[in-house]
Amino acid sequence: MSGQNPVFIPGPTNIPDRLRHAMNVQTLDHRAPDFVDVFAPVLEDLKKVFKTETGKPIIFPASGTGGWESAITNTLSPGDKVLVARFGMFSHRWIDMCQRHGLDVEVIECEWGTGAPADRYGEALAADTDHTIKAVLATHNETATGVKSDIAALRAAIDAANHPAMLFVDAVSSLGSMDFRMDEWGVDICVSGSQKGFMLSTGMAIVCVSEKAVAATETAGLSRCFFDYRDMLKMNATGGFPYTPPLNLIMGLRESLDMIFEEGLENIFARHHRLAEGVRKAVEAWGMSLCAKTPDLFSDSVSAIVVPEGFNSTALTDHAYDTYGMSFGVGLGEVAGKVFRIGHLGSLTDAMVLSGLATIEMAMKDLNYPITLGSGVAAAQEYYRTTAAAARAQAA
Ligand SMILES: *Cc1c(COP(=O)(O)O)cnc(C)c1O
Repeated sequence: MSGQNPVFIPGPTNIPDRLRHAMNVQTLDHRAPDFVDVFAPVLEDLKKVFKTETGKPIIFPASGTGGWESAITNTLSPGDKVLVARFGMFSHRWIDMCQRHGLDVEVIECEWGTGAPADRYGEALAADTDHTIKAVLATHNETATGVKSDIAALRAAIDAANHPAMLFVDAVSSLGSMDFRMDEWGVDICVSGSQKGFMLSTGMAIVCVSEKAVAATETAGLSRCFFDYRDMLKMNATGGFPYTPPLNLIMGLRESLDMIFEEGLENIFARHHRLAEGVRKAVEAWGMSLCAKTPDLFSDSVSAIVVPEGFNSTALTDHAYDTYGMSFGVGLGEVAGKVFRIGHLGSLTDAMVLSGLATIEMAMKDLNYPITLGSGVAAAQEYYRTTAAAARAQAA
């Protein structure tokens, strides 16, 4: 593998040099005031990324999966009912975790390539007249299929059913890359991680919890200790941590937040949209299609591309890696072998995306895909070329 090539897996993402330097720190005493001076503002500034005034950001030394586990174990009891849609590998894995924790999981089965169906959630909630459903779970951006779901519509469906269930959202591959609004969408727990939109190494689950979710910790019967929100919030209140914090990652997060605010969240979303559009132009030029069924579902952080009948997408990503030293995302679960994924989130420019498109094009040509060499690159170039000036003016 070439250390110079960007990665096009949808996380972990490319780490800007500025963040690699920021994470390279000598040991610091986490009980000393210096740590408090760094950590307390980090938690405060995270609220801007979640778009919350009242939510409380929490960091665990973990990956996103730990964030999922913290959400359910802090708020629910064995046998509690949760409502969740399955439409890809990540929504599937959260469901599996709920089942392994002994929750009563009502699954809304959806075709992979579709999104969280607000109407079907609404019907299930309306039918639940004695309010046995304690939490509604949804994956904002299904990384396996490149599908973005409408969380505002889901909130509206919960409200229309007049249902008191909490709303938990997996935003691991969308937070900091695509618009997310914790307060406006009435999200009770948002789960994210350090290695995608935050452009850092893997190692932190970054979650945000509402007052309602915090209140639920008092009665939740599932076991937790390491992930207990109560211990964490108690220590965080004075800038501390209940155990040894991942110092290098927190220093990295300080710098990441600075980078995010310098560029501006809305500019970051616009950049991701534009980069994604270029990829979509290339896919169209190849005569191929996305796994995501309709344009409203297209993710701006990852594209899952369906390979033609008779081709194996895993052979393609293997070939791109072996021959050109570049990583692309494989198909997972139901779409294994059928799609390959281009991750286009985090620290990325037009030129970087073009290198990925050019490389996967070569790999496809090598394996006799029915594409014209250069066609996807040219389509993306044309799009980037003709939108660059306007994008720069918009961001200024
Ligand atoms: C990456 C990801 C996760 C978490 O994965 P970890 O490997 O535990 O960090 C969860 N959900 C989605 C949608 C993801 O993209």
